[in-house]
Amino acid sequence: MTVQPNSIEARDIAYHLHSYTNARQHEATGPIIIDKGEGVFVTDTDGNRYIEAMAGLWSVAVGFGEKRLVDAASRQMAQLNYYHTFSHKSHGPAIELAERLVAMAPVPMSKAYFTNSGSEANDTMIKLVRYRSNALGLPQKKKIISRIRGYHGVTLASASLTGLPNNHRAFDLPMEGIFHTTCPHYWREGRDGESEEAFATRCAEDLEALIQAEGPDTIAAFIGEPVMGAGGVVVPPATYWEKIQAVLKRHDILLVADEVICGFGRTGQMFGSQTYNIEPDIMTLSKALSSSYLPISALLINDRVYQPVADQSSEIGTFGHGYTASGHPVAAAVAMENLDIIEERGLVARAAEMGELMQAGLRTLEDHPLVGEVRGVGLIAAVELVTDKAAKTALEKPGALGAHAFAILQKNGIISRPIGDALAYCPPLIIEKAHIDLIVETTRKSLDELHATL
Ligand code: PMP
Repeated sequence: MTVQPNSIEARDIAYHLHSYTNARQHEATGPIIIDKGEGVFVTDTDGNRYIEAMAGLWSVAVGFGEKRLVDAASRQMAQLNYYHTFSHKSHGPAIELAERLVAMAPVPMSKAYFTNSGSEANDTMIKLVRYRSNALGLPQKKKIISRIRGYHGVTLASASLTGLPNNHRAFDLPMEGIFHTTCPHYWREGRDGESEEAFATRCAEDLEALIQAEGPDTIAAFIGEPVMGAGGVVVPPATYWEKIQAVLKRHDILLVADEVICGFGRTGQMFGSQTYNIEPDIMTLSKALSSSYLPISALLINDRVYQPVADQSSEIGTFGHGYTASGHPVAAAVAMENLDIIEERGLVARAAEMGELMQAGLRTLEDHPLVGEVRGVGLIAAVELVTDKAAKTALEKPGALGAHAFAILQKNGIISRPIGDALAYCPPLIIEKAHIDLIVETTRKSLDELHATL
């Protein structure tokens, strides 16, 4: 594409630094400017229509252009456009949403705390955990264990939890006191002849060894996504969560479920924690909470966390934390309406049903010469591309095959996401069978196109 002088594309290049974008390449190619969204489709300013098979950034659960959310925002803006929740102040939307989230939680939770992004929720989690240990008189109990390829955000602390080199390398991260244990990706990490269960046992043993090496009474919490998303859609091997939880219980370590992607139906149940029998002490929620119509995130904490925080000692003072927009009334009102839509339209059951179709459909690609593994659960999946199936390797430059495939698929009208050499799929929960068929067919056609160029 050639960028015309003074066009909107040229202005984007001139003034806008993008996230996760190669800036020099962007100067050359310019942006694709998305202009409109409706249902599972988005349209760019050149009039090309795409199936948004990533629901934006894994988030637009109810689909694009939902008028009810526009109206909910407008009503709340007219009623009370803003108020905060510091120093005993509150407002209806925050109270209603807190009550609803606590009631929806798959395990007994005590309180909801509001933030504005997944990163802020996980950052706040670290602060709550530290505050709690100090309040309990356990100042040494501060370390947090995360996982290689986990994704928990990009603030300094949440990027430290994230277990991806690109989020650490150039930022002098991770911060002190944050450690990463084995990524539970059986296809990639499992050894020859090792069963899924044996691999899960090894993951739990690796966690135990890390805890022993660091000192069990210095570890405050473990964080994990029920299904890893941005690290490549890694579905845990059979028995994984049961074994990990046994280790954490033994050492009195809090369990944090990062439900930012899995929450609100993605895995075919309301929460990923239900799909994998996870009993978290803290859950972090965002994305589908408001279908990203407005930024909002939340933490749910149980009494093990809340009570010591509430019992704050005079030495440590009140919980000195909070954002101007924590529990923003317009965002909270939109989240309430969004949750109404998810419930009224049965979108969780629908995610389970459509999820089965999507998983089965994508698995038909396993016979393709470029497909190494298809993995996923519910409406989240990845197709791992290889050029050598037996060696499980792709092109010499890691990620090059995935990037090519992504570009061809996008040209053919499907927006997925390349993660290394995998293509990720995470469509809106309102997706229909015809769209899924089109995603699968177009992926096969695009992979054929790619194969012909190699
Ligand atoms: N946790 C998970 C599991 C995520 O997928 C993401 C974002 N992709 C985050 C946290 C960070 O959320 P945000 O981008 O809203 O800060």
